[in-house]
Amino acid sequence: MNEANAGGSPVNDVVARARAAQRAWADLTVDARARRLAPLKDRVLDRAQAIAACVQGEVGKPEVEALLGEVLPSADVVQYWTSHVEELLEPTPVDIDRLAYPAKEGTIHRDARGVVAVIMPWNFPVALPLRTIVPALLAGNAVVFKPSEVTPRSGALLVELFDGLLPEGLLGLVQGAGDVGGALCAADVDVVVFTGSVATGRKVAHACADRLIPCSLELGGKDAAIVLADADLERAANGVLWGAMMNAGQNCASVERVYVEKSIADAFTQKVCELAAKLRPGIEVGPLATSAQRAIVARHVRDAKAGGARILTGGADGPDDAGREYPPTVVRVDSDETALMREETFGPVLPIAVVESAEDAVARANASRYGLTASVWTRNRKKAARLARELRAGVVTINNHGFTGAIPAAPWSGHGETGWGITGSPLALDVLTRPRFVLVDRSRAKSELWWYPYTPALTAVATSMAILRSSARGLFERVGALFRLVGAMMKRARGG
Ligand code: NAD
Repeated sequence: MNEANAGGSPVNDVVARARAAQRAWADLTVDARARRLAPLKDRVLDRAQAIAACVQGEVGKPEVEALLGEVLPSADVVQYWTSHVEELLEPTPVDIDRLAYPAKEGTIHRDARGVVAVIMPWNFPVALPLRTIVPALLAGNAVVFKPSEVTPRSGALLVELFDGLLPEGLLGLVQGAGDVGGALCAADVDVVVFTGSVATGRKVAHACADRLIPCSLELGGKDAAIVLADADLERAANGVLWGAMMNAGQNCASVERVYVEKSIADAFTQKVCELAAKLRPGIEVGPLATSAQRAIVARHVRDAKAGGARILTGGADGPDDAGREYPPTVVRVDSDETALMREETFGPVLPIAVVESAEDAVARANASRYGLTASVWTRNRKKAARLARELRAGVVTINNHGFTGAIPAAPWSGHGETGWGITGSPLALDVLTRPRFVLVDRSRAKSELWWYPYTPALTAVATSMAILRSSARGLFERVGALFRLVGAMMKRARGG
């Protein structure tokens, strides 16, 4: 393992070792790389309990959530990419007009970018990094990974899983806080894949802009769930509650706002409150990862209450440094103008607002600076499809919420201040590779039509081609242009 702890220059050393290992790795066939990484899947599964215990110890999530949210999706990620990467990286031929460009063959290749910096948050400290590390390595890159300072042991365990599978130094680990992340962005890396808060994402974007290297940013969310009058009430209540409370609400795609149609609002709210009151602390809902996070959650709920919101279940008084526990909380709100409805809360709080119509709900859902995922709960598929098109979100789920990050073939991305990153799906390869277009010319002609010298015949060729290609020109005009083109081509062939 290639590891550094804090400070600027150790980071540079790890990056240098990764770069040194990368070229030979990229020279292997894709299939050879996939075979080297394939055992990772069983290693993840075999060490499921250890991974779950480590994550639970660092961030407090219930063991079953670690198994469902960190272990199984990670094994699926390895399975998906090792099975499909060869086909996805296959060079693709390009359509070339044989008349305009005779005897030319062009192919797009996808090359590794080089060294990929992967900077990650603490909320899914194993599954999130692996979503990028696995395809990045398979595409021929080296990776330098910086876990969150809140989850250094999960980060180290993740890297340990690769022991003996990769060339020395190819996967580097740097541990530390923001200064180490900053040093990594400033080091000799070719792309930064970042997941975290908007504030840090901005810093990463600036750092990458200074170096003119690309970055991928997956940032915060304020996801809305829209519950329509014809929804299956039981399913909607169960699903929205899970979407809000899973991982104690510390999920970028948590339900952080519910817009429910008036006619079922009371029944839905009552059902959600009943279910929320039954959630067992530590079994279904763990503590928050840090006391700082709890303080944000408590402030949002307190401010909303002061602004007229009603706490229907849960809520907690007491000082902001009152440990890490916060109970599952359901709040009825009228206004969207509070922090609880505008900023990322990242806690086990479900604010419910009543709307007059689906259109009203979409307008309010879209009036956010974030745009990660959104869900629509309805039995009307046609209406759901229309609303899905209107919602400003990178992922829209109908009658479900927020779990699709676990599907390796599905893209995960956002709008607005959620950033422009894409993880998951073949589209993620756009971040992790760069295209190289190779053109082979099999022409035996001594010269091309468009090469020197520039003559009146060449001008006539170009002019008649422009007329011929324009669908706005009449038939008569185009036939005339065709004759002029043939004449000019013959003249050109004779050296004119
Ligand atoms: P954070 O922004 O505080 O930290 C994220 C990472 O960036 C950490 O590793 C941190 O050490 C590092 N960092 C801090 N300063 C840096 C700098 N100047 N340069 C480079 N790196 C730096 O975020 P967090 O609190 O760890 O995570 C929670 C946030 O992550 C939430 O906003 C959540 O919505 C977001 N998130 C988004 C997604 C998504 O897919 N969109 C997924 C998970 C989490």
